Order: sequence, then C-alpha cells, then structure tokens
Amino acid sequence: MVLRLLAIGFVWVFSSFVLGPSGPAVAQGFDDVEIETLDLGHGVSMLTGQGGNIGVLAGPDGILMVDDQFEPLAPKIRRALQNLSDGPVRYLVNTHWHGDHSGGNAAFSRTGSVILAHEQVRARMSTEQYMGALDRRIPASPDAALPVITFPDEIRVHVNGEAVRILHVSPAHTDGDSIVLFPDANVLHMGDTYFNGMYPFFDGSSGGSVEGMLAALNLGISLADDRTRVIPGHGPISNRAELLRSRNMLAAVIERIGREKLKGASENEVLEGRPTADLDGAWGRGVLKPDDFVRLVYQSLPGPEPRAAN
Ligand SMILES: [Zn+2]
Repeated sequence: MVLRLLAIGFVWVFSSFVLGPSGPAVAQGFDDVEIETLDLGHGVSMLTGQGGNIGVLAGPDGILMVDDQFEPLAPKIRRALQNLSDGPVRYLVNTHWHGDHSGGNAAFSRTGSVILAHEQVRARMSTEQYMGALDRRIPASPDAALPVITFPDEIRVHVNGEAVRILHVSPAHTDGDSIVLFPDANVLHMGDTYFNGMYPFFDGSSGGSVEGMLAALNLGISLADDRTRVIPGHGPISNRAELLRSRNMLAAVIERIGREKLKGASENEVLEGRPTADLDGAWGRGVLKPDDFVRLVYQSLPGPEPRAAN
C-alpha cells in the first residue's frame, strides 16, 4: 500500500527536523546551535543541540556516546565532550538510522570511534532509502558512516565500570531501533521509540509501526524504576511516570482509531471524528500535529479482513 502523504506544512517542518536545514538555510543552519550538557550522575550525561538527544558515558576508559545529531555539529559536540573526559569517543551507538541521530557518524569514525548499531541500521544506511512521510529519497551513506559492529538482538559494552546494555526493539520507530540502558547510573536512552510530551513519529517506510512503539514503551517501563532518568529521542529529560503517561496516551489512541478502522471507517472518516480531541492540547504541540498523527496511526493499524471471494 502506498503511504498517503501527510500535510505539506508538516513535510516542510519535519524534513528539516529529520534531515537538517535545507536550501539557503544550510550554510548558517547550525551556527546558532549550542550544545548543552545535563549531568545525570555516574559519568552519564545528556547532550542537546539540534536533532536527537545524545547520551554520553564518560570515564577513565574514554567515552561511549549514544547518537550524534548532524555532521556540522560534530566540532561543537567534541568541545562539549572535552568537558566530560580527556579521552576519545571510543564507542558510538546509533539508536536508529535517521540522519538527526546518525549524521555525525563519519566525522567520529574518522577519529577512531567504533560505531555499533542493530544490523538493520547498517543495512538501511548502506542503500538509498525512501521516507514515505517526507516523500524523499535519502542517499546511501559513505562507508565511513556505517556501523562496524552490528547485532541482531542485544549487545553489551563493558566500559568505565558499566555493563552498557543495547537492546533491539522492533518494529517500533523503524525496524532497527535500539534502546540503551546504563544499569549502574540508572539511565535509559529510549531513542525515537519515545518522544517526551508530544505525539510520536514512527517511520512505516522503515519498518516502524505504532503497535511496536507501544511495545517499546512497555519495555522501557519494565526496565525503569522510580529513580531512572529516561533520555527520550526528542523532548526534555524524563522519567518512568512520564513514560507511563505516553504509553497510556498511545494505547488510548490505538484503541480508538483501531476500532473505527476495523469497522471499515476510511482515514478521512476517522479524522472527521476527531478521535484525539481531548488529547491534542497536551500532546499535539510537538513535531506532529494532531491530524498528521491520526493519519500515521490509521495507516499503521490493520483494517477489516477482506471478504472471501465467492
Ligand atoms: Zn528517528
């Protein structure tokens, strides 16, 4: 099935969100970005700039970093890291292939970082991709940007006294998502399986699904306790209670839209019923506007069984 395009305004805003500034904005697009560091304890920090939130574990062994935003930001990210450790970025984890999380890969691999990711991240970055929500083709990445260690389910990295757990969860935001747990620091990086305080985007053309997003939130909730600091892919630092709120919102939306679609309602009919009206004030001010979110969810859910031919 061809994915129906979302609203034009959304595509414009969203393409700069995922792909970085385009057109005349490229030259200065990142000049004003400042990298800010939030200390989460036990050597773990969250870095924010433009693009997906970065997780950092720094210590005597050097740095393990989770996601790297956009390539032009690499020098600024390096300067922020120098305040955390004199050592190099030894390990770089990609939570998924989207450019706002992996755009800096080549810059860091050229200075010796070993990139780790789920095997679908390497597979997708190795070939041209089509993002349905943007109606855009994304070219294959250069070899220097590709993950060199890939895994099917879970891998652990033992560094700075932490046994960092990188767990694959699929299908969620894409088919190559990982979430990253720092057990001693009690920090969980959810990647884009979690958008804090806003309707989440998921990329059906990369194998993502809304029901998988729900499963990923449930996994995150099961790994967290009341003291866990949760790094979302986008949005401010979070915790288990907020993960639960997001999960409950998403479960309600899936239930409402799924029920109508199973009854045979069309996408426009579901939209006209305003199934998220009571939620839009709290969740609809992020990257996805309410109508775009309803369309995405509708497209991701199963419809009625086709009638048997007779
Ligand atoms: Zn993403």
